Amino acid sequence: MGDLDNKLSNVVGDRTAKVLLDSFAIKTVGDLMHHYPRRYMVRGELSDIAQLNEGDEVTILAQVHSSQNRAIRGRKGSILEVIVTDGSAKLSLTFFNQAWREKELKVGAQGLFAGKVGIFNGKKQLAHPDYQMIPDGADVDSAAASFAGKYLPVYSATAKLASWKISQCVEMAIATLDQVEDYLPESIRLSHNYPTLQQALVQLHTPADLDHADAARERLTFDEAFLLQLMLVMRRNELKKLNTTSRKTIKGGLLEAFDASLPFELTGGQREVVAEIENDLAQTHPMHRLLQGEVGSGKTVVALRAMLAIVDSGGQAALLAPTEVLAAQHLRTFQKLLGPLALGGTLGSADKSTQITLITGSQSAHERKIALSLAATGGAGIIIGTHALLGEKVEFADLGLIVVDEQHRFGVEQRDALKVKAQKPPHLLVMTATPIPRTVAMTVFGDLDVSTLRELPLGRAPITTHVVSVLEKPAYLERAWARIREEVAAGHQAYIVAPRIEAGSDESSDIDFLFGLDSPDIAAVTTLAPQLSAGALAGLKVAELHGRQNSEIKDSTMRAFAAGELDVLVSTTVIEVGVDVANATVMVIMDADRFGVSQLHQLRGRVGRGTSPGLCLLVSSAPADSAARERLNAVASTLDGFELSRIDLEQRREGDVLGSTQSGSASHLRLLRVLRDEALIEIARADAQSIIEASNELSSYPALKSQVALLAQNAATDYLDKG
Ligand code: ADP
Ligand code: MG
Repeated sequence: MGDLDNKLSNVVGDRTAKVLLDSFAIKTVGDLMHHYPRRYMVRGELSDIAQLNEGDEVTILAQVHSSQNRAIRGRKGSILEVIVTDGSAKLSLTFFNQAWREKELKVGAQGLFAGKVGIFNGKKQLAHPDYQMIPDGADVDSAAASFAGKYLPVYSATAKLASWKISQCVEMAIATLDQVEDYLPESIRLSHNYPTLQQALVQLHTPADLDHADAARERLTFDEAFLLQLMLVMRRNELKKLNTTSRKTIKGGLLEAFDASLPFELTGGQREVVAEIENDLAQTHPMHRLLQGEVGSGKTVVALRAMLAIVDSGGQAALLAPTEVLAAQHLRTFQKLLGPLALGGTLGSADKSTQITLITGSQSAHERKIALSLAATGGAGIIIGTHALLGEKVEFADLGLIVVDEQHRFGVEQRDALKVKAQKPPHLLVMTATPIPRTVAMTVFGDLDVSTLRELPLGRAPITTHVVSVLEKPAYLERAWARIREEVAAGHQAYIVAPRIEAGSDESSDIDFLFGLDSPDIAAVTTLAPQLSAGALAGLKVAELHGRQNSEIKDSTMRAFAAGELDVLVSTTVIEVGVDVANATVMVIMDADRFGVSQLHQLRGRVGRGTSPGLCLLVSSAPADSAARERLNAVASTLDGFELSRIDLEQRREGDVLGSTQSGSASHLRLLRVLRDEALIEIARADAQSIIEASNELSSYPALKSQVALLAQNAATDYLDKG
């Protein structure tokens, strides 16, 4: 048992150990040592009191300025008011019936004070704050080790456990450390000039100076990146050891016939990815590939080719789509692209042909029965579905490939639920239209090989984006409707996207009353559509599409829109991903500031899919200098999804950056920030790869190996907890 495994109750006593456990799930000395300080306060440097805001939970360093105990008028008892200062501003501390504290809170003494900032009689105050006085210079040596250093660590604390109490526990824990085993290979540690694990932990909590604290932080941040990369690289190697059916491309098959009938040339990028995938599928271990690409870069065709290669080899391919709208569209697209090749088992079929079937939650029992049987018997080579594909009753004859469209909508659990339906480990292709920076991909999808489609097919008309500020120029909204009428007159179609289905279903939109339009809730699909039909878009064929409609209505509306029978689709974000109607050229997004940057980019990707230029209007009532407007300006300024995803990610919390796919590991990332620490992640990845190779899967580094195993195990439990 190493020092870090020591139970905290042996060090700080049962009572405090229980509070640490309840507040932070801290059980061992090691857990406590990994509860890192958020920042440091410097002895003698008082906190800026003027900066404190009402309602803040604060821990401040201040000096006692004066104190006064007085009787409460008309009531029993007394009130002790202590004024503390940072040298200029003052803060009042109040205690009821605790006159004895005056002796502790000596005028001129410095202390740490924690509590919630309130306002009383126009003055900032802390009522009944928790505090810890700091021994002055002369007392330092005689005082408990606590607060002896110049840098006072500040921890995330709770009402039950003030920051300095955690600090005292940490100091007791440090005193018990004898020789902490360092799992980091010495060669790697020295190559980066890092302190040992023990030095790093001690220096992070009780730094001699800020350089030591920085070095400690860097070493421990590296550890997080390194362990995570080791786990991912090893997982990837495990996958490479699995045995599966090799699916070599054959001559004279469906794929060849499909290529011959394809109405366009693949782009250079598509050809590269196609070759990578062909190569993967020919191996006897399963493909594990992420295809990320710009919106409209043509991922579907690439996926379809992979699916056909599987069918050619006698297997089946399943495509998992996030929405029914998208699943239905994939079915239509595949049928259109394949033509007679998709009519297997019917009279009109070509000699090489297959059947495509759809499995969704809302189909009738009869349809479902046919689809299930086609999947189970192998009658269908391609099975498209929503979450319903994961259902128990769904079986396959020989599932060789799983394609997950719009991966960001699914977690690892879901792709695993499909995997178990295959006889042998299936090949896996996950696609995402939310391009992510390389190091994020490395962290989130580090066990996948990554292919990227950056270019759009040739001849794609550009998309122009404008922010329509209805705050400054209300009349611009009229212009937006006029643009829709013009596009429709020219034979095109339009989308109008609103954040809500129904009026009043959430707080009302600011845009509403600005226009004095009849409804107070213009940015809701079900009010906006009739209003426009009767008003600004009178005479046009306007339909609604949203998630509360049943799937038949959704499907028939999408079909009608795709067939050009409708002019304008007023919709929620159900059309966000994947919807592909080339004739739609204009999109108006209402209350655009309510959507995220990547989401707007996705939405906008629905227009400009054909050869006519696309126009996207971001309607917003956010003030010109607001952060919301800045985000909209960013979207308007570039069509580069990679750049936008970076902006998007920078504004999110780390857990959201990593998303559901890797949230298990995310909770183990205390210091690492995937965007800020890109360079470190790259280095950690390279180190992980080389050490795994050089050490025969870490067998020469047992301590490191068990750290990685622990991380993998925790990540797995987190998934289970979530499910
Ligand atoms: P996404 O990558 O966003 O999923 P899609 O696969 O839906 O994009 O492709 C967008 C549109 O581009 C589709 O209509 C598709 O048929 C078309 N397309 C794909 N590849 C090409 C190409 N090489 N040349 C011309 N059009 C293409
Ligand atoms: Mg797509």
